[in-house]
Amino acid sequence: MRVLPDERPAPLMERSPESAAAELRLFGEELSGRAAAQVGGHFTDVREANELIERSPEAFLLGVLFTQGIPAERAWAGPYLLSQRLGHLDLERLALEREAVAEAVAFPPALHRFVHTLPGWISAAAARLLAEYGGSAAAIWPAGAHTLDVTERLLAFDGIGEKKAVMAVEILRRHFGVPLEGAECGSVAYDVHVRRVFLRTGLADADTPEAIATAARAACPEVPGVLDLAAWLVGRDWCRPKEPRCDECRLSAACPRLTARTVDGVGVRRR
Ligand code: SF4
Repeated sequence: MRVLPDERPAPLMERSPESAAAELRLFGEELSGRAAAQVGGHFTDVREANELIERSPEAFLLGVLFTQGIPAERAWAGPYLLSQRLGHLDLERLALEREAVAEAVAFPPALHRFVHTLPGWISAAAARLLAEYGGSAAAIWPAGAHTLDVTERLLAFDGIGEKKAVMAVEILRRHFGVPLEGAECGSVAYDVHVRRVFLRTGLADADTPEAIATAARAACPEVPGVLDLAAWLVGRDWCRPKEPRCDECRLSAACPRLTARTVDGVGVRRR
């Protein structure tokens, strides 16, 4: 039977890296809008922990230290649980009472996998905040500061590498609405979920920090960081290491589904 022009089904979106990039960007922009409109936090399921991070820049900074090697929701609950165990989050005491901090982190159930390194990072961060920022983490990211300067300041803290610094800057911009200059200099964290999504969508064809960052800039030149949370959520919720749920995925209609690509180097260039 002949199909009249006005009866033709709408064309399916082409599955390509370009389509996937556009869809990922759209998702990122939606998430940014949601975060801006949101009342209360979404860092973790613990309400009191969210409230603490929402009202205390110092707790947010400590939360950044926790975000490594454990699920994000558990990490962001860390500052609150630490405050419960210590009875405070006083910077002077965190800096000076190192043994108490170490005991509080390690007491079963431990607050983190890194019971030997995290306490040192916490005490060192408190000391640096007192010495260089007048005891206020917000002084690291004043309104109008440049993205690269804030990233550099965060990198000076023990326990904060490129990945955490980039993530923190993006959260400051997206969730807390901190007006930072140089949004085009932001990036995505070189995170396992983000990397997997960038590789499988074809946005990147090599699993290196440079390749992922370059792909983010190409996909969203004005605000590359807008892709960070979007890719992280797609990776966590759908694009799993094994058995990705492509048909349910937010990028389902756009992604070329290069599912043989993994972050352990199979199917991609490492360099
Ligand atoms: S789950 Fe499938 S559709 Fe979604 S990003 Fe991964 S490979 Fe693409």
